[in-house]
Amino acid sequence: MNNVPVIKKIKLTRFRLPLNDIGYDVSFGQGVFYEPGSLTYTSPLSIQIFTDEGITGEYITGTPSVLEQIQILGPFLIGKNALEREYIYNNAKSILRKHDRMGIGPIDVTLWDIAGKYFNAPIYQLLGGYRKKLPCYASTAHGDRTKGGLDSPEAYGDFAEQCLELGYKGFKIHSWAQVDLNKEIKTVHEVGRRVGGKMALMTDPCCVYDTFADALAVGRACDEENFFWYEDPMRDGGVSHYFHRQLRKMLKTPLLQGEHVHLVEAHSDMAAAEATDFWRADPDYDGGITGVMKIAHAAEGYGMDLELHVGGPAQRHCMAAIRNSNFYELGLVHPKLESTRFNYFKCGYQDNLTSIDKDGCVTVPEGPGLGVEYDFELLKKYKVEEIIIK
Ligand SMILES: [Mg+2]
Repeated sequence: MNNVPVIKKIKLTRFRLPLNDIGYDVSFGQGVFYEPGSLTYTSPLSIQIFTDEGITGEYITGTPSVLEQIQILGPFLIGKNALEREYIYNNAKSILRKHDRMGIGPIDVTLWDIAGKYFNAPIYQLLGGYRKKLPCYASTAHGDRTKGGLDSPEAYGDFAEQCLELGYKGFKIHSWAQVDLNKEIKTVHEVGRRVGGKMALMTDPCCVYDTFADALAVGRACDEENFFWYEDPMRDGGVSHYFHRQLRKMLKTPLLQGEHVHLVEAHSDMAAAEATDFWRADPDYDGGITGVMKIAHAAEGYGMDLELHVGGPAQRHCMAAIRNSNFYELGLVHPKLESTRFNYFKCGYQDNLTSIDKDGCVTVPEGPGLGVEYDFELLKKYKVEEIIIK
């Protein structure tokens, strides 16, 4: 193709999708935990970028709060060369400087989908492929509030054994969010006792411990069980350099921080402050695939590893092109739920408990762009709002 694809229209669509048997905790700001009979909703946002070359980029993000930022960014994108992601990323940082800049991510991923379709190649190949098989850890749903699922330290131990048997290389605890410190510590020990030495083990309290003492106590349990990493323990929201540096000094378990600081500069500052061991990034939160690759390469410069946040097609393409990364986060998974996600793919793509192969890996989609097909026909009936920018 000789002509560049120029952006002529952006369509943003919000959906409200039902999730059965899943509970939602308003005081925690998110699910996902098992609650038989309950109905909750997820509100993804689809981004479609149309170009004058007839190529359309398509991406669905699970972070609908970026809608406003994308609307601010939208008019700047019209008439631009869709292949000039670096130009768009850098200008978007200024345009969204009074926001958290999370609006850049879904736009950038959609532009990468256009690039892949334009060059007829999967994104990971354009990035420079490193691998095709991604070793997974099972990332659990949050602890249940009712009986019968992940309701006790023993239940987490049982589930860890099940995941080991399925072939998983790692297991990450997401606990109850309503802190019972005793139970938190018991869960770390129970999982360690059952599968320690056989899988990499992690725990992610999701920023709910109120005190340094609590964070330290659970960290010391992780030390005893030889955990692979300890993630986001504190109520500071995972951002304080000083706190995490102090915690690191007192624990032997590596910390994983960075999910809640955004873009390459803030991640580099966190590492320079010695506030983390593993780095964390997400294409939706951190400037898209462009932003994640910058963070991965910055971490590479420090001799450190970048672990991607949650699973999805964009994460798979990134990880397939990153050397310094250990695991793909498969989740959130639960022993009683076949899936904790609404399946809006019509190409067979899934991130479910049983999506791994016998080696505990998933693969990267091989089609052009993201290499997935969204089922917009199915999604139609769940549409809440549609916004056109042109
Ligand atoms: Mg996390």
